[in-house]
Amino acid sequence: MSEEEPVRYERRGPVAVVTMDREEYRNAQNSKMTYALDQAYYRAADDDEVKVVVLAGAGKHFSAGHDIGTPGRDIDQSFERKATLWWDHTTHEGGASRYARESEVYVGMCRRWRDLPKPTIAMVQGACIAGGLMLAWSCDLVIASDDAFFADPVVKMGIPGVEYFAHPWQMGPRFAKEFLFLGERVGAERARELGMVNRVVPRESLEAEVMSVAEKIAEMPAFGLALTKKAVNQCEDIMGLRDGMDSVFGLHHLAHAHNAEVGTDSLAGMNARTMRDGSSRGDST
Ligand code: ZN
Repeated sequence: MSEEEPVRYERRGPVAVVTMDREEYRNAQNSKMTYALDQAYYRAADDDEVKVVVLAGAGKHFSAGHDIGTPGRDIDQSFERKATLWWDHTTHEGGASRYARESEVYVGMCRRWRDLPKPTIAMVQGACIAGGLMLAWSCDLVIASDDAFFADPVVKMGIPGVEYFAHPWQMGPRFAKEFLFLGERVGAERARELGMVNRVVPRESLEAEVMSVAEKIAEMPAFGLALTKKAVNQCEDIMGLRDGMDSVFGLHHLAHAHNAEVGTDSLAGMNARTMRDGSSRGDST
C-alpha cells in the first residue's frame, strides 16, 4: 500500500494535510515520494479553499532521510522533471548525472516547496534525519513533539551536510558546526532554543497543537499570508541563504566526486545500516 502511494493528501477545512506514508521505512524519501509530495503541494496551491498546508510523517518518525537502502530506492529511475531544466540524469554518468539529479530532486524541489504561497507547517515526531531536515526546513513553521530529534550525520560520508544547506540559518553558524562535526541527535527542546523549532509539545497533543495553529493562521487573509511569507523568505535570501546554499552545493558535489574517485561509490560505501551502526548515539535511518 505505502509503496504504491507514498504520500496521502487530505483536506480538513482550510488545512491540507500532506502525509508521507512509508512508515515501514521511517518515511525514507525516494524519488517517487518526492514527486508525490510535489504533486500534493501543487494541489494545495491550486485549491483556493486551502489556506495552510501541514506536512506530516506516518508512524513513529517524521523522516529518516533520503532512501539509501530500501527496496524502493529509485535513484536510477527517470521522472518528469518539475524543479529544474537539467537533463534527465539517467542518460548521463558521473558528476553529470549526480549533479543534475540532486539539483532537481533535492535542492530544486525543496526551494520550489519553500516558495509555495501558503503557510506550511512541518509536524515532526521521532526522527528527522539528514534528508528529513530538508523537508522540515523548507516549511515555514516547525512544530515538534517532545520525542523528536534532529541530526545530519552525513559528514561520516565525508560530505559537508545535506544538499539543502540551510544549517547556519536554521541554528546559527556556531552550532551548525557542532551539529555537523558530531552528527549527533539534537532533541526537540534544544532545537527550539536554537530557533530551528517553533514549539515543542507532548507527543499525544502534537496533532491537535499543529491543527490549532494552522486553523488560527487560516483566519488571516490569503494574499496577506502569501506576501508575509515571501517577505521573510526574501530577507532570508538577502541574509545569504540562497547564495550560500548554491556555493555549498559545489562543495557537496566535490565530496560526492571524491568519494566516487577514491572509493566504491559517491556515498563512501555507506548505506542506511552502516550509517546507523557507525554512530555512537545512532540515528534512525
Ligand atoms: Zn548529495
